[in-house]
Amino acid sequence: MGFLSKARTAYRMSKGRPKGWQSLLWNTAMARTGRVGPLMTPVHVAIEPTNACNAQCPVCETGNFTMRRRKGLLDFKAYRTLIDEIAPTTTTLMYYFMGEPFLNKHSYDMIRYARDRGIYVETCTNGDLADAQGVIYSDINKISFQLGGMDEETHRRYRVRSSLAKTHANLHALIDLRRRNPQSNVQVDVGFIVMRHNEHQVPAFLKWAKEIGADSANVIDPCARNMLEAHAYLPKDRKYWFYDEEAFERGVLKPKHLPDNECQWIWNSIQINWDGEAVPCCRDPNGLHPLGNVFEHGLRGVFNSKKAREFRQQVLDNQGAIEICKLCSSYGLPTLEKPRPIEFEIQRHSFDPEKLELPTV
Ligand code: SF4
Repeated sequence: MGFLSKARTAYRMSKGRPKGWQSLLWNTAMARTGRVGPLMTPVHVAIEPTNACNAQCPVCETGNFTMRRRKGLLDFKAYRTLIDEIAPTTTTLMYYFMGEPFLNKHSYDMIRYARDRGIYVETCTNGDLADAQGVIYSDINKISFQLGGMDEETHRRYRVRSSLAKTHANLHALIDLRRRNPQSNVQVDVGFIVMRHNEHQVPAFLKWAKEIGADSANVIDPCARNMLEAHAYLPKDRKYWFYDEEAFERGVLKPKHLPDNECQWIWNSIQINWDGEAVPCCRDPNGLHPLGNVFEHGLRGVFNSKKAREFRQQVLDNQGAIEICKLCSSYGLPTLEKPRPIEFEIQRHSFDPEKLELPTV
């Protein structure tokens, strides 16, 4: 990239000076010039409310029981300290990783805590446990209900042990409550994980999403971890694939575009597990690349730790040897979401997480 082009990018980033622009600019410049630190606190943080789940999706380490990490729930006190640390520069919090977020009964309060501190928050859910009052109270910016099919049979082929009827009931209750609270800005997204057993239902899904009043609908290209899963679950229609078709015919699973000693994402983002252990990104569900514990050393310390720098250096020098990068096709830059002030209040008495009946983790 030439000097003028770099200057244009820097100008675009700093225009309007949204929160986090200095961090995004600095960390991206470090990535592009091949420096692994020191970095500023990342603008995008992902955190795991729990790695337990009520469903048993077969293409998921939690669901198929191959998760090597201990199961547990994110602690509210430790979470609050973390949010206080990152709030000045972090613009986006992905409140989700390897489990069902709403199995953590503090989820609604946790999301609200981050929202109160000007952080844009998103999550995804299988929908079985999402409580409409709790979601509106949390003031989350975006919640995505992700379905495995358009009827119980197809839904449960992937979302094993989940109930489409429950998901629908919770989704309808949320859309209805949002309609009755027009000041709420909670955006409701519906996602359809397109697979071999449900690809014929995509048009029905898109029609249904409009009819129920969802704000957005997403047809989600499926992931597979290996060829066995690919043969079992990838749709026949290859327009839904991000995998290399020619390599697939040779028995190799790899994305169409493989990163080549580059990943600006990990200069601007970090993934935190429920117990505070951080890993580079969501491609590391088993904690193969531990960077340090943010509850013990703070996020800035871990983001600049020896292990974090060494991992980035390996990405720059020999990314081909990093297993988790071999199935990754997404390594761009996070966007700077604009913080939106809370303009309404739903009284706490309208929602009590203690009364939620949750399965034991
Ligand atoms: S898996 Fe993807 S996002 Fe993670 S470090 Fe590798 S290229 Fe970056």
